Amino acid sequence: SDFLKIEGLKAQIDADGTPKEILKGLDLTIPKGEVHAIMGPNGSGKSTLSYVLAGREDYEVTGGSAHFKGQDLLELEPEERAALGVFLAFQSPVELPGVNNANFLRTAVNAVRKARGEEELDAVSFLKLAREETSRLSMSGEMLKRAVNVGFSGGEKKRNEVLQMRLLKPSLAILDETDSGLDIDALRIVADGVNSLRGPDFSSLVITHHQRLLDYIVPDRVHVMAHGRIIHSGGPEVATLLEKQGYKQFLEAAA
Ligand code: ADP
Ligand code: MG
Ligand code: MG
Repeated sequence: SDFLKIEGLKAQIDADGTPKEILKGLDLTIPKGEVHAIMGPNGSGKSTLSYVLAGREDYEVTGGSAHFKGQDLLELEPEERAALGVFLAFQSPVELPGVNNANFLRTAVNAVRKARGEEELDAVSFLKLAREETSRLSMSGEMLKRAVNVGFSGGEKKRNEVLQMRLLKPSLAILDETDSGLDIDALRIVADGVNSLRGPDFSSLVITHHQRLLDYIVPDRVHVMAHGRIIHSGGPEVATLLEKQGYKQFLEAAA
């Protein structure tokens, strides 16, 4: 069944008082249990798509729709989207001085559990769970005691993000892996995180222009995005083709 269904999505941002349309009628369907990738040149609107799906306020949806599990995603508050199982990995994880990482993660997990009508985890049971996950991710347990992302290396931030994702157990993980600061180790951490969750009840949208990432996360489908639309969709071979030949042929075919 169609788990995530986006039809004709249009969105704009206020650019110094002038509305600028960024998403120009985007169609995308992700069935349950599938991992899809979106690749596209810089400025094509990939991050905008992830922000709109996450419910960020500065984007105005001016047309089209986005449904998840049959519900109108765009009508829901960000917290309600999270409760429905949507997880968005932030491209630049926020640093929160003075906020204990374990407490921060437990608050996020319990907010989702509460919204789903599940019992909240007390500090002791949460810590047990979090420790299992940190050792699984080859993270030092020390990371749970530190302030959120403060002084974390790039790789530690990635691990922390994957830790959060694994603790939240989303049914749809949207990852926007931008150009900056992703070395091979970080790509592997992200890929292992996504792959570890793969299964019939988990879908993912991996947004990237790193073809390398898709060597580790082999997607069911690859979509090419340009100028605010999906201009081509295919299997994993599309990523290989893009690495060899670039976006040119797809852009020309779409024009
Ligand atoms: P991508 O992630 O594919 O690189 P983005 O979604 O970040 O693309 O950006 C798409 C387009 O929207 C770009 O032309 C970018 O300059 C523009 N854009 C994004 N955010 C803003 C903003 N706050 N103000 C003006 N233009 C923006
Ligand atoms: Mg960009
Ligand atoms: Mg981007």
